[in-house]
Amino acid sequence: MAKVMKFGGGCLRDGRSFARACAIIDGQPRVTVVVSAVSGVTELLLSAIDQAKRQEKSIPAILSRLAEKHRAVIEGVCPPGRGKKRLQGAIASQLSQVGRLLTGIACHRDLTPGVRSRLLSHGERLAARLLAGILESRGTRAKALDAHRAGICTDGNHANASIDRGRTRRILRARVVPLLRRGVVPVIPGFFGRGPDGAITLLGRNGSDYSAAAVAYALGAQSLEIWKDVDGFMSADPSLVPTARRLRRLSFAEAAELSYFGARILHPRTVEPLAGIRTRVFVRNMGEPGSAGSEIVAGCSGRREDVAGIAANRHLAIIRVHGAGIGSKPGLLAAVSSLLGGAGINIHSVLTSQTCINLLLDPADARSGLKKIKAAANGVIRKVELEERLALIGVVGERIMERKGIYARIFSAVARERINVEMAAAGASSVACYFLVQRADMDRAVRAVHDEFFP
Ligand code: ASP
Ligand code: MG
Repeated sequence: MAKVMKFGGGCLRDGRSFARACAIIDGQPRVTVVVSAVSGVTELLLSAIDQAKRQEKSIPAILSRLAEKHRAVIEGVCPPGRGKKRLQGAIASQLSQVGRLLTGIACHRDLTPGVRSRLLSHGERLAARLLAGILESRGTRAKALDAHRAGICTDGNHANASIDRGRTRRILRARVVPLLRRGVVPVIPGFFGRGPDGAITLLGRNGSDYSAAAVAYALGAQSLEIWKDVDGFMSADPSLVPTARRLRRLSFAEAAELSYFGARILHPRTVEPLAGIRTRVFVRNMGEPGSAGSEIVAGCSGRREDVAGIAANRHLAIIRVHGAGIGSKPGLLAAVSSLLGGAGINIHSVLTSQTCINLLLDPADARSGLKKIKAAANGVIRKVELEERLALIGVVGERIMERKGIYARIFSAVARERINVEMAAAGASSVACYFLVQRADMDRAVRAVHDEFFP
């Protein structure tokens, strides 16, 4: 039975951490590996885009920082020899492709979404080559594939693509299963795939988790292990709540909602490709390979507590569309959302009333979204404004809807702290309730709710 292991950027920092990942992989039968970019590389590539657009002169310095990061890993872990030379050559040729793309961006002073996706995909492609080369140098047969060639197929959206499970399964199996049969470890870069026209498309920030789930689905894997630099899912962010506990088991729905509301453990769509199949999913800590981490189960978690965890997100913007009778104007909500959808802007959530529509968005999309709606405003819309001072808190638990009095406990806990709830929604998901508070109050509100349910 096949197994898929995914290593996040936080676990791929230097020679030592690559060696640790190899030790986890070595000796596993029929394992396929998915990797994120080396820690900090995606951020470096993003800033490279900005700098290249401004001045071509900055490119050599960026390339040498990228080269240095990868060189340090090789030096830290590879014994001298032919394998090391081959790996250095492979990394250098990949970096020269990055250089060519950056020069193109500098010449045009601009870039298409396709070029952006291609450029950012190199972070993961470099990491896959590194890991495969290092495994080989330790005597484990391995091969780096490129995700678009390996068969991760998407719907073609450039920045936030959805995976096409059916096509991925057909193509990926044909490419990967023969390697597994020969005892080779396939190493696949996460974060991107190929659209229907063959172009490279990205799965959104932290998308490698989502890639790994697609690979697990395609191979019918018995288990998917997602290795991170944290302990798995926690009842709250331990940097906000020191008494937060590890969740040993949680349901797919709980994991999806916690991730959606801001527990940055997993890409929020990770569990999607696994719906309806029997793959066991674990989130594990590379710093503590002996700990079982968190298991994400398809059915009920079996937990006795009412609440699984509390997630919070201070990176959030709200567009408020005001107007008399807005709530009873047929088609208005559809018009506003298709306007944003057409611009590739995702709406996290909507709260409406008779006089105002509140659209919750990613801050990166807020200004362009605001402009679009303002430009299209007609008689009904009186005012459109951007609210950037709020934070969102999500309380997640599979029994939250069934049990009486849970909402009362959540809001009483917040009220006792004298924190005002600015907006709230419950019932949209059967396992989650969320509310918004002033950003400055977020930490205290999370602690108050956590103390209420985890005394
Ligand atoms: N490297 C990408 C990012 O930082 C994807 C990932 O890490 O999963 O968002
Ligand atoms: Mg990353």
